[in-house]
Amino acid sequence: MSSQNWIGGEWVTPNAGTIVIKNPSNLNEEVGVLHLSDASHVRQAEDAASTAFNSWSRQTGAVRASHLYKMAAALEVKLDDLAMIASKEMGKPITEMRGEVMRGVNLLRYYAAEGVRANGQVIPSSEADVLQFTKRTPLGVVGIITPWNFPVAIPIWKIAPALICGNTVIWKPAEFASLTASKMVEIFAAAGLPEGTLNLVIGKGSKIGDVLLEQVTLHAVSFTGSTATGQHVAEVCARRNIKYQTEMGGKNAAIVLNDANLDKTISMIISGGFRSAGQKCTATSRIIVENGIYDRFVEMLIKAMSSVKMGDSLDSSVYLGPVASESQHKSVMSYVNLAREQAEIVVEGGRSESINEGYYIRPLVAASVDVNHPLVQEEIFGPVATLLKASDFEEAISLCNRTVFGLSASLFTSDLSYAHRFLDEAQAGMVRVNQETAGVEYQAPFGGVKMSSSHSREQGQAALDFYSEIKTCAVSYA
Ligand code: ADP
Repeated sequence: MSSQNWIGGEWVTPNAGTIVIKNPSNLNEEVGVLHLSDASHVRQAEDAASTAFNSWSRQTGAVRASHLYKMAAALEVKLDDLAMIASKEMGKPITEMRGEVMRGVNLLRYYAAEGVRANGQVIPSSEADVLQFTKRTPLGVVGIITPWNFPVAIPIWKIAPALICGNTVIWKPAEFASLTASKMVEIFAAAGLPEGTLNLVIGKGSKIGDVLLEQVTLHAVSFTGSTATGQHVAEVCARRNIKYQTEMGGKNAAIVLNDANLDKTISMIISGGFRSAGQKCTATSRIIVENGIYDRFVEMLIKAMSSVKMGDSLDSSVYLGPVASESQHKSVMSYVNLAREQAEIVVEGGRSESINEGYYIRPLVAASVDVNHPLVQEEIFGPVATLLKASDFEEAISLCNRTVFGLSASLFTSDLSYAHRFLDEAQAGMVRVNQETAGVEYQAPFGGVKMSSSHSREQGQAALDFYSEIKTCAVSYA
C-alpha cells in the first residue's frame, strides 16, 4: 500500500519524496511506500480546515455525534484490517493492536455521546432579570501531531474530542505510522465525514511539523512524542500564544513491597515493562523492590521472563514483537550495551522460535547501578527495565520520585495505609495500586506532572476542557 494525504475531502499524493517502509518483524518484506508532503500541502490543509470550520462549528452536537458514531461503526467493521496494517508497519503484536483499535472505537463512541451532554452551568446573577451562564465554544483549527507507538488510539483520543467540540483538524502522524493513518482516514472518509473537517498531511516532523507549528493559523496544538520535540512544540506555541498540550516521556516506577502478592505482581510488571516492546510512555522502566522480598522477586521474575514469547507481530501467540524502526533499534541497543558494560544483567529473557531478520530486542532487566545512572534516569522506550532495592516504603517512594518525569507509577502491596500514602506522595499524574503502570482507561484523565506533560489532561472529560473555550454569557431580559 502507499500513503496519501486527505485534504478538503480529496486524496492527494504528495511528491516531496518517498520512504519505503519495511516490516520491523521481517526486514525482507516491504509493507508500503510513504509519499512525503511539503509546506504547500500544509497550506492546502489550512485552507480546507478553516473553510470547513465555518460549517462544522455551526452543526449541532447531535449532528457531529452522528458522524462520530458512523466513524466508530466503520472502524469496528475494519478492525482486523487496520490492526494488521499497523502491526506490520510498527511491529506491535496483533492481539495488542486489535485491542488498541477497539479502544479507538470506544473512544469515538464515548466522545460522540458528549455531543448531547450538558456543556455549561447556570450561575446566579447578582442583578434581577439577568440569566448568566457558561457554554463551551469551539476553538477553530486544531493541529494534531502524533507518535507511532499507539498509531490508532492516540490520534483518536485527540481527533474525537476535537471534532465533537466543533473544531476542524489538521493531523500529522509520525512517519512510522503513516500507512496506518492513511488507512484509518480512508475508513473515516468512507463513513461520510464532511470534507475538510479532518485533514491528513503525511511527512517529516522536522519539515512539515515545523511549518504547521510556525506558519499555520492554528487555535490549538495537541502533541504526543519525545520530550525534546514536546519542549519545542511548547516553545513555539507559547511564543504564538496558541493553546497547546504536550504529552512526553516517562520513567515509570513500579514499587513492590514485602507484602505484595508476587504471583499477580510479576505478570503485571512484565506486562507493564514489555508489552509493546516497552514502547509506551507509561511503560514500567524502574522496578523498586523492598529488601525482604528482593531475592524471591528476582527468582520469580527470571522464571517468568524466560517464557515470554518473542516473534513476528502477526503471530497471535506472540507477547513481544520487534521495536518499531531502525532508529529505535539503534537507540534501545545503546542502552542494552550500556547495561552489559556497566550493570548486572538480572535477566535477558524472551523465548523465540524461528524468527526473521527484524528489529528484535530481548527483554532485559538490569541492576546494581547508581540511581543517577542513565539506565535509571533516561527514558529508554524499549524492553529494558532497571531493578532497584529499597530498605522500606520511605526509601521506595523517594526513589520513585527521583526523576524529572512524572507520568505513571504503581505500588504493589496488601497494606491499605501504604496504598493511600503512595497515592498522595508519588509524583505522577497517574498512580495505581496493584495495577500495572500502563493501561489507564480511556474514560479517565490521562497525563503527567513534572517533565512528562504540559500539565493538562487528555481523554475522559478532561479533553473537552482542552478542545473548547468556556464563554461566560449574560442576558438581561428586564
Ligand atoms: P519519536 O522519537 O517517538 O518519534 P518525536 O517527538 O520525534 O518522537 O515525534 C513525535 C511526533 O512529532 C511525530 O509526528 C514527529 O514527526 C513530530 N515531530 C518531530 N519533530 C517535529 C518538529 N520539529 N515540529 C513538529 N513536529 C515534529
